[in-house]
Formats: sequence, structure tokens, C-alpha cells
Amino acid sequence: MTLARALALHGVRCMLVERNPTTTRHPKMDITNGRSMELFRRLGLADKLRAVAVPEANNFDVSWITSLARDAGGRELHRFRYPSVVEKRAEILARNDGTQSREPAMRVSQVMIEPVLRDAIVGHPLIDARWGVGLEDFEQDADGVTVTLRVTESGATEQVRCDFLAGCDGGSSRVRAKLDIALEGRAAVAQRYMIHFRSDARDLLQAFGVAWHYQTGKGTLIAQDDKDAWTLQTRPPPGVDLASVDPNALLDVWAGRSFEREILVANPWVTHLLLAERYGAGRVFLAGDSAHQYIPTGGYGMNTGIGDAVDLGWKLAATVKGYAGPELLASYEKERRPVGLRNRLASERHTGVRIKIAELYENERDPDALGRAIAALGNAENESWGIEFGYRYDGVESDPVSYQPTTAPGARLPSTFLRDGSALYDHLGSWFTLLRFGDADPSPLIDSAPVPLETVIVDDAQLAPIYGAKLVLVRPDTHVAWRGNACDDGDAIWSRVLG
Ligand SMILES: Cc1cc2nc3c(=O)[nH]c(=O)nc-3n(C[C@H](O)[C@H](O)[C@H](O)COP(=O)(O)OP(=O)(O)OC[C@H]3O[C@@H](n4cnc5c(N)ncnc54)[C@H](O)[C@@H]3O)c2cc1C
Repeated sequence: MTLARALALHGVRCMLVERNPTTTRHPKMDITNGRSMELFRRLGLADKLRAVAVPEANNFDVSWITSLARDAGGRELHRFRYPSVVEKRAEILARNDGTQSREPAMRVSQVMIEPVLRDAIVGHPLIDARWGVGLEDFEQDADGVTVTLRVTESGATEQVRCDFLAGCDGGSSRVRAKLDIALEGRAAVAQRYMIHFRSDARDLLQAFGVAWHYQTGKGTLIAQDDKDAWTLQTRPPPGVDLASVDPNALLDVWAGRSFEREILVANPWVTHLLLAERYGAGRVFLAGDSAHQYIPTGGYGMNTGIGDAVDLGWKLAATVKGYAGPELLASYEKERRPVGLRNRLASERHTGVRIKIAELYENERDPDALGRAIAALGNAENESWGIEFGYRYDGVESDPVSYQPTTAPGARLPSTFLRDGSALYDHLGSWFTLLRFGDADPSPLIDSAPVPLETVIVDDAQLAPIYGAKLVLVRPDTHVAWRGNACDDGDAIWSRVLG
């Protein structure tokens, strides 16, 4: 859905087929990180998404507890405190040093986010979006791809001819299988059990006040709206046949006592740490979970997929529009696969910390000592700003935890706010943008531009040092394409930047 929206934004027609009749009932992701929110903002969706998310005044705290049942001795061991959207916005504005994102992160479940994305594409004049239609098969040749579609309910088939095909078809991707692309890494790392439920028992479920996650050594309770929607991610009891697991019993044991609820969905599932060996072949590409699958620690699955969709989107559009050379689409895998690997490794590291904490729960009987040990291990899974904002497309490995703003070509453009209070990001064009700080002559780049280009003059001596060059050329995905204090040969720059 994000890729369809990105293509439409660049004026390119597409068809999206989804074999299910509706968007998902499974909550799955619960954090849309600040980088995804910046990208959603450029797709015109940030405000619509915020409207269905957890209220902006609510915190993002992660609280480790013994049990929710305070009357039976349950207690909070350690709370990692994180600001609300409102507080984070104020911090972003106050710092304005390039270290912050344009948008704070957002707490929202996939049940809520998908209908907003669907509404953003259904009825769009450039998008033919069809639910209840599956991709059955495809064949590609030098000029295009012929796809066989099947209506899920009736079984009726249809053939469609397209220029390109993107397999955004999840972990069991048929597109990836057809391309015979293998997955590397570890499959079936751990068995999990998910219970999504509705309950008004906030006296219990918010026993220590509002928090995003309540965690124990056995799992995580996710507050999906701080009101009545909750998800418990836990382990099934060892040795029990998965089909006979009783979700009600699991909930009671985890919470420390029984409470009123309505279970919406409950099922076992398995975590993976996998990366596709290639991100496509010829005219066919993989994006999202079809290319990578992570353990959710860190919340990198969807967020990485949004980055894939935006990178692939502008490159496909530039190719279809005739702006790009033959190498641009090949850069999709070169740029995004290393990010896919980096994020897989980060998710694995964060899981390692969770495993250590689970061991502490088993062995440490003193709750004060347990709380101190958890605090000392930290919560990098929700503080890895380098993973979220510092990934680069120039092959330079940056720190996964801290984010250092840079305009090195390949890096994400640092975000700042101008003197009039507007965000620099909000001045960027939908295609390329040339930022001009000071008196450099931009005309060689402007005169030779083979793609729509906007120029933004930034007359602010405080901000100029953050950007480090008088001219900074920014791509549609807000990564830096080129920077310099002067430019003689515009053609050479465009030729490199557009493949
Ligand atoms: C418990 C859990 C927690 C998570 N938490 C987070 C989080 O906090 N943050 C985060 O970023 N990520 C999180 N994730 C990961 C996130 O849910 C996935 O990464 C994300 O859904 C991947 O999106 P996708 O569109 O690539 O694939 P999917 O969401 O799997 O969508 C693929 C779609 O393709 C359809 N499809 C498949 N085959 C065909 C076909 N042949 N024809 C037509 N349609 C087809 C499927 O029906 C499906 O709707 C979590 C995942 C889980 C399980």
C-alpha cells in the first residue's frame, strides 16, 4: 500500500492485488518509528495516521514488572521512560540541531494503520486496488511481466501485463519463491503465542499507570490504545500441543489473576531472522517481509519495509517516466539489502538482551537487584536511533545506537526547523530538491536537470553548519544525492545520481 501511494505521488499508475478480502485483524506491529513517520508525512499520511493512533499526550514507557496483581505482591521493577508525542515535538523544536527527526514515533497497531493506508489508495485515479484477488503466477520477458491473477472467492483468473512487478507479499512470498531466491539466516528461532483482546480492566492492566509495554521474563503486554485494546505476546506452555493451548489460562497466569475480557484473536506463531539473498531479478522486486523477517524486538519489520517501498517507489517512477538510466533500479538492492541485514542483526541483539533478562527472572530472587540488573542492561531496542535514522547508502557503517547528522551522500538528510517555524523537510519537492546555503551558483545543476527539481534557499547561519556544504542535492526519499560548495559539471552529477 505504501509503494502504491509512493508511485501515485510520482504520477505513475499501478495495480495492487491483495488476496484477503479485508485488511488485517492481527495487531502485529505497534511502533511506527520517527523515520517511517517522516516518510508517511511526505506521502501525505502522517496526520491521518496520527488520528487513529494512541493519543499524542500518552507516554511510550516500557515497564518491567513481577506481576500486575499488586494485591498479591506484584510490583514494578524498572521503568524506561520515553516522552509522549507532544513532549517529543517540543524537544525536537528546542534542540533543532539536526539530531532529531521531523516526526516523533507513533504507537499504533497494524489493525489500525492498514485501513488508513487502504483509504489512501482506494479510489485514487492512478491506483487500481483490488482486495480478494491473489497473484497466482507470472512470467517476465525483456519488455514486461505477464501476471496471472485469481479472484479468491470465485476462482476466476485474469492475465495482466505490466512493466514491473513488486512482491510485497509477506514472509511466505510467492513472488520470491517463483524467482527462486533463497533466504539466509535463521528460520523458526522461537515459538510464540499471541493473544489480542479487549478489556476494560484498566485497574489491573494499568496497575502501575499508563505504559506502552508491561514486560516480564515470559512476555510483553502491549497497550494498543491505552483504553481497551491489548495484546499479550508470550510463550506457549512447554510440551503442550499448540492447538490445545488455552489463551484464557495464559492471560490469567501472565497477569497474576483473572479479569474480564473478550479475546479477539489468539494464535501461535514463530519468529524468524531471515534475509533474501537478492531483492529481485530483472523486472521483479521484493519489498518488506518478502525480503526480510525479523523478531519484533526493536519494531523493525514494517519500518524497514516502509523504507524499501519508498526507495523502490521513486526509482520505479523515475524509470517509468524516463528520467533514470539503466543502473538506477539495480541500486535498490545495493542500498536496501545492507539495511535489511543491519536491522536483522540489531533485532537479534535486542532479543539477546531479552533472553538475558528472562534468565535473570529465573535466577534472581531479590526484586530490587533484578530491577537494577534490568536497568543496567538497558533498552537499546527502543533507543537505537542509529538504526532508525543513521542508515546510509554509501557503504559506511554508522553506529547503530547514536545518530550523527551528516550530509554525506547516501545519508538521510538531517531535519531542522527554519526561523519561521516551518520544517525544512516540508519545503522539499516530491522529486529532487537542491538546498542552497549561501552564495554558491546552482545553475549548472538546475540547467541540466533531467528530472523535476525544486530549489530551496536556506538563509540561516545557525543551520548552515549542520548541512556542511553550500549546495546539497536531496533525492525524493530524502537521502542526500550529492553535496558541494560549487558545481561545474551538472551533467556528470545527474548521470551518477540517476544511474
Ligand atoms: C508480533 C509482531 C509484532 C510486530 N511489531 C512490529 C513493530 O512494532 N514495528 C514494525 O515495524 N514491525 C513489526 N512487526 C512486523 C510487521 O508486522 C511486518 O514486518 C509487516 O507486516 C510486513 O509488511 P508487508 O506488507 O511486507 O507484509 P505483510 O504484512 O505480511 O503483508 C503481505 C500481504 O500480502 C498478501 N499476499 C500474500 N501472498 C499474496 C498473493 N499471492 N497474492 C495477493 N496477496 C498476497 C497477504 O495476504 C498480506 O496481506 C511485527 C510483527 C509481529 C508478528
